[in-house]
Amino acid sequence: MSLINDCVFCRIIRSELPSTRLYEDDLVLAFLDIAPFNPGHCLVIPKQHHHSITTLPTEYQGRIMSVASKLGAAVVRSLEADAFNLLLNNGTCAGQEVPHVHLHVIPRFRDDRPIFNPAKQQYKDQAHMQETAAKIRAKLGE
Ligand code: 5GP
Ligand code: ZN
Repeated sequence: MSLINDCVFCRIIRSELPSTRLYEDDLVLAFLDIAPFNPGHCLVIPKQHHHSITTLPTEYQGRIMSVASKLGAAVVRSLEADAFNLLLNNGTCAGQEVPHVHLHVIPRFRDDRPIFNPAKQQYKDQAHMQETAAKIRAKLGE
């Protein structure tokens, strides 16, 4: 973790790069995504550089979520959207391209194209499901 970083979102925070700002407070900044899934798609970012949500201090975690919730309500009311997605890609294999935590707020409309691949897997059996849950529980407290 570093407070000074050359990543694209740190440069937006410092106004070294342009952005269309929507909201700012002591902990977070929200602005329009430059390549939106739908118009109004915005990003909420902490004003501290962290690649992963897991190292982000809890006050920032809480604030990005509460601001995203308000932005979601605002995009629905202002753009006559029907719903919104909150999405956080954490890690390259999860689709994270910018290495600075960001929560997407994506306005959604009836008959929108799907945002996720709907193909889902199934557990082999009950034991596989229970083993998976036990592994996760064992690491939760660490
Ligand atoms: P990720 O795939 O990392 O979850 O999403 C990164 C998002 O950041 C993408 O939706 C992309 O369009 C957006 N983005 C990347 N660079 C810039 C930029 O310079 N300005 C803005 N406003 N959005 C950006
Ligand atoms: Zn950064």
